[in-house]
Amino acid sequence: MSVRYAVPPPPVVSLPILGSDERFPVHRIFCVGRNYAEHAREMGYNPEREAPFFFMKAANCIVADGGAFPYPEHTQDVHHEIELVVALKTGGRDIAEAAARDNIFGYAVGLDMTRRDIQSEAKRMARPWDAAKAFDHAAPCSAVRPAREIGHPESGSIWLDVNGASRQRGDLKELIWKVPEIIAHLSALFTLAPGDLIFTGTPAGVAAVKRGDRLSGGVEGIAALEVTVT
Ligand code: MN
Repeated sequence: MSVRYAVPPPPVVSLPILGSDERFPVHRIFCVGRNYAEHAREMGYNPEREAPFFFMKAANCIVADGGAFPYPEHTQDVHHEIELVVALKTGGRDIAEAAARDNIFGYAVGLDMTRRDIQSEAKRMARPWDAAKAFDHAAPCSAVRPAREIGHPESGSIWLDVNGASRQRGDLKELIWKVPEIIAHLSALFTLAPGDLIFTGTPAGVAAVKRGDRLSGGVEGIAALEVTVT
């Protein structure tokens, strides 16, 4: 007998897969904080290698393959954070670093959009970050490039231009916590699952956006992302 739901079940959020007509279903979105030294410095923190920390966005924050980012309410200060995104095909608990890559379906590039004023208030009041990080449309993300095509890149430029001018520039080799280390730490805290995405942190250069801005970013050899603030 099929299950009858009292209210409509949530739709499956998904991303396109480059070179395929299949789609990648998004389960959860984990994000790593302060994972590039220059960005930690610009936010006023000491970039020493301390244990990674995580926060989450909801799957329905995804804006799939770019497009429109509606300027959110209750903020005067929305920042862009361009990030390498890891897409998991399998999961589990306590995954060893050496086995971490076996769980990766592919890679994408995403924007960890942030209501910075709300985040600053939350930090000051020692409150959670959800309203700063997990609002509607807070996670524009490109199509996923399968690892079976490109392997597991450890270097390559990551960039964001706004209205044609360079804003953020970095290289994957500058990640403080590398992708296998992130998966090892994250799987000690959460049972990871197929469909989970991990936003791996942003390089320096975060700044405010305004309506009409055209954001154009990417990670070399992986994917590109175009977003307009509406
Ligand atoms: Mn971020």
